[in-house]
Amino acid sequence: MRLLIQPFGNVPVDIIDALAASLSIFDMEIEIRNSISIPRDSYDTRRGQYRADAFMEACAQADADRVLGVAAVDIFAEPLKFVFGQAEIGGRAAVISIARLAHRDRAKFGQRVAKEAIHELGHTFGLTHCSDPKCVMSFSNSLEDTDHKGMRYCDSCLDAIPTALRPRRR
Ligand SMILES: [Zn+2]
Ligand SMILES: [Zn+2]
Repeated sequence: MRLLIQPFGNVPVDIIDALAASLSIFDMEIEIRNSISIPRDSYDTRRGQYRADAFMEACAQADADRVLGVAAVDIFAEPLKFVFGQAEIGGRAAVISIARLAHRDRAKFGQRVAKEAIHELGHTFGLTHCSDPKCVMSFSNSLEDTDHKGMRYCDSCLDAIPTALRPRRR
């Protein structure tokens, strides 16, 4: 199994490296791609934000078992004001945005990015949102939610992931 990390725009290298380290919980070969430009036509001038769909389409074109886009810009998907990320349920492509996750403490910044990435990858493994607020699959509507939840799947989410894709239990 191969997981591509595809940065879009100016994503700090230390944040991508920390993300790759956090994703080593999965039994996948991780490849970090060079940053590419923000997809053309993804910018919504009325909203001043970028369409998450456009990043998903770009990720879906890459050849790997999973493709995780990491966008430097703020993304949205109707009807939400913004999204921290988006993914195809049971699909290959996922994208997160780091635009709202920054923190002066790099470790904290990195943790937020890892949580949203592990969450979106969970969707590609077929998971939906979890009612356990500490589970990484609980929905984040704000940074507070992101900071409150953990980096791990709860036991019932873990059990719902196909065995071949399941991360190691602690
Ligand atoms: Zn979600
Ligand atoms: Zn859960």
